[in-house]
Amino acid sequence: MNGARYARLFSEGRIGPLRTRNRLVMAPMVRNYADAEGRVTPRYLAHLERIARGGVGTMIVEASYVREDGKTWVRQLGLHADHVVPGLRQLVDTCRRHGALVGVQLAHGGRDAAAEVSGSQPIGPSAIPDPVMQALPHALEPAEIAELTAAFGDAARRAQQAGFDFVEIHAAHGQLIASFLSPFSNRRNDDYGGTPPKRRRFLEEVYAAVRAATGPDYPIVVRLSAEETLASGLTLAETIGTAQRLEALGAAAVHISNGNRATYALGTVVPPMAIPDGVLLPYAEALKQAVGIPVIAVGKIRTAALAEEALAKGQADFVALGRSLLADPDWPAKVTAGHEDEVQHCIACNQACVGRLFEQQDVRCTVNPECGSERDYARLQGGAGQRLVVVGGGPAGMAAARWGAMAGFDVILHEAQSVLGGQLLPAAAAPHRDGWDMLRDYLIRELARLRVTVRLESRVQAADVLRERPWAVIVATGAEPIRPKLGEIGGMRVVTGRDVLEQREPHQGRVIVAGGGCQGAQTAEYLASCGHSVTILEAGNEIALDAPADERALLIGRLRHRNVEILPQTRLGHLAVGNVVVERPHETRMLPADMVVLCLGAKPVNALAAALHGEVPTLVVGDARAPRKVTHAIAEGAAAILTLLGVQPEDALTPDAADTTSWA
Ligand code: SF4
Repeated sequence: MNGARYARLFSEGRIGPLRTRNRLVMAPMVRNYADAEGRVTPRYLAHLERIARGGVGTMIVEASYVREDGKTWVRQLGLHADHVVPGLRQLVDTCRRHGALVGVQLAHGGRDAAAEVSGSQPIGPSAIPDPVMQALPHALEPAEIAELTAAFGDAARRAQQAGFDFVEIHAAHGQLIASFLSPFSNRRNDDYGGTPPKRRRFLEEVYAAVRAATGPDYPIVVRLSAEETLASGLTLAETIGTAQRLEALGAAAVHISNGNRATYALGTVVPPMAIPDGVLLPYAEALKQAVGIPVIAVGKIRTAALAEEALAKGQADFVALGRSLLADPDWPAKVTAGHEDEVQHCIACNQACVGRLFEQQDVRCTVNPECGSERDYARLQGGAGQRLVVVGGGPAGMAAARWGAMAGFDVILHEAQSVLGGQLLPAAAAPHRDGWDMLRDYLIRELARLRVTVRLESRVQAADVLRERPWAVIVATGAEPIRPKLGEIGGMRVVTGRDVLEQREPHQGRVIVAGGGCQGAQTAEYLASCGHSVTILEAGNEIALDAPADERALLIGRLRHRNVEILPQTRLGHLAVGNVVVERPHETRMLPADMVVLCLGAKPVNALAAALHGEVPTLVVGDARAPRKVTHAIAEGAAAILTLLGVQPEDALTPDAADTTSWA
């Protein structure tokens, strides 16, 4: 048991009059699992029950819109009308049965609520568009502000009727209340703008309305952005002043996040792989020193050790886990049971969770295909006594082997190389991509724990597979890089990005990287970090469009810092002596070069499946089916087991169109 090691983390806490069983809080991440009218769905219920079962002490159900015009995501939960109450009551009862306290976040997207989703023009304190959303908001009149204040009160009443233990007012991330708090978005010169107390007025009125609706003893938590790292953005000093004011008003706790939609690309709202763990803890600490009420910290606090340290140092009273609980809802239970090495950590890829959310899709988790498909994986059983052969030890194959073993199959995994990992190996080799190594290590540990028979350097043909008398075969043989015929002129070498990142080919001199997808951009960064002069050729207008927005912005910044030249609308033509000829819309140019690195995508390798056809049930998964992201590889590998067991998925991941430029 780890109780002693993480004594603070697993000690009781208090939020107002409430006692929590530990110091872990589920952060209020939107899932996009509600129905079109904002009601809880069976899928959402199963998802949150799975998290509650994993032992988190307190759950803050997602940012839920208090009024239709504040709806930011197409399948966001609502608190805007009475019809949502019965479903929420069921949700609260379900989670509470597992011992969790359950609150809900009251939200209004403000100028971030796009008209296509909310059905009306965005609103805000001033007619200043959010730089990302770009729609012009309607500047609210005082009477309209009063109506919104009442909407927050009504939503809080509904939350209380549904049985929530507390509510959290969302006053962070540039949403409506935060947009009043911040001089970045609030340029009013009436009672709601100008000085910090005037910009705070709307929040205080909302707080008063929520208090009036819920009574004197009901716990109200407030989520704040510590600062907005922008010219004229919110400052930490102001946020401390706001928190102190909230404490004086009777708030039960403050929950300290950071930034707004415009600063998302800086990586400090939902910190991606390239940002260090615990990056927001200094903010929580500053607030903790300024107020006496509990402070909840958030922001890539992935390990129990870091969470415990934050509590021990007095940086926070509670630690919120957002993505970590998507990656492994059993994180708290495994840590308390002393099985910390079995925790599947979030790798901060932002690929399937916020990456999909920003595309208005349902939230998934790259490393945990069960996330969002809990109802399907609850039926994962029935493989006992049957042999399953998996061919290919990349992410899809390892996922198939892992979930196959979990379903009871006797699994044999063949990998042609001397190590497992497939495309995770080059993906992890580029700078700031260590999360892919974490994932690979975890899957390898899991295969050992589940006693999967792994055969390395085992390049099998159909006859070899059939000799093992499998009940079924999963072909996860991956993809190979697309390599147009260019010839090698004047000694110039032409290799693939994968060759370079897997150290199969040396690199030299001036390098042209052909293909500016995520793969090309990351390979270019790697080469530049090795001291080469690098130029990226991209046929489209922009590079790395297949990366999550924050990763992309950070990556491009680093490429600029390393003087990587980016040539948009440029295609590789042919090779000349010491040069590469490139085609641009109105010109043909010679670029001096010593080496060309091809990052032009990949094509599936799956001949084995055809050879097995008619001999044994065979499924093709991952890049062997169509090259896409790791999210799809793992989801398909695991879902293949459901298919073999005859489970008709209710919540299957919809396949994206093949994206032949991505490996991460
Ligand atoms: Fe973490 Fe990636 Fe899963 Fe999101 S998709 S929860 S960032 S592992």
